[in-house]
Amino acid sequence: MTGLLTIVGLGPSDPRWLTPAASEALACATDLVGYGPYVDRVPERADQRRHSSDNRVELDRARFALDLAAKGARVAVVSGGDPGVFAMAAAVFEAVESGDPEWRSLDIRVEPGITAMLGAAARVGAPLGGDFCAMSLSDNLKPWEIVEARLRAALTADFVVALYNPISSARPWQLGAAFKIATETRGPDTPIILARAVMRPDERIAIMPLSKVEASMADMSTLVIIGATTTRLIDRGEDISPYVYTPRFYGVPR
Ligand code: SAH
Repeated sequence: MTGLLTIVGLGPSDPRWLTPAASEALACATDLVGYGPYVDRVPERADQRRHSSDNRVELDRARFALDLAAKGARVAVVSGGDPGVFAMAAAVFEAVESGDPEWRSLDIRVEPGITAMLGAAARVGAPLGGDFCAMSLSDNLKPWEIVEARLRAALTADFVVALYNPISSARPWQLGAAFKIATETRGPDTPIILARAVMRPDERIAIMPLSKVEASMADMSTLVIIGATTTRLIDRGEDISPYVYTPRFYGVPR
């Protein structure tokens, strides 16, 4: 098969956070496939076909893209942030595994992007400087019992925890439940970072103690970071946001 399918990470949105390799993959594509707002981020070109779709149909979109590539197209499937983090790359490989055996001989590449967690961390300092883990709080694709067990385990093990998909109108209570679990395992002063729309014009970042945070402060464009017991704030005075960092040294002599 001669077609090519590249799953391209667009980063958090600002084109300066798009890698040159991802730009190249977009430039040589004959077809763009993706959720509408992501496709809209790529400047239009007369010689490139655009196939926008709804966000809920990941597997169908993956099959559509594979089919195009199998017919010889050079397809770029676009995804926000990194395509391998709670996004399209896994959907494409799932479609390959369960789909037309011929798809296995296609050239499928993944072009990484800056994921929301890294963008958010960079905005406030170095909260991911120690050990951390990332979770999707969505229970659309896995049962809530698993989300809760993993979150509890991560907090108990004292990881910094980054929460993707924290809340939406269809999932209004899960973030509150997550904060409650955090309260059972972490102190009230534990720093919480709410990083909304990182690197977009409407970016808003808040740092507050666990005792003051409320689920209503986040929306579906927010990445939540729960600090570990070692995560620290460097105070910079009243009107300016503190730096947040997690030291790399932990329990060893220096
Ligand atoms: N593949 C994406 C994540 C998709 S899951 C990535 O690597 O970033 C969607 C979730 O990502 C959102 O609910 C939100 O929690 C987070 N997210 C995506 N873009 C973001 C941004 N610019 N700022 C803050 N969070 C973002």
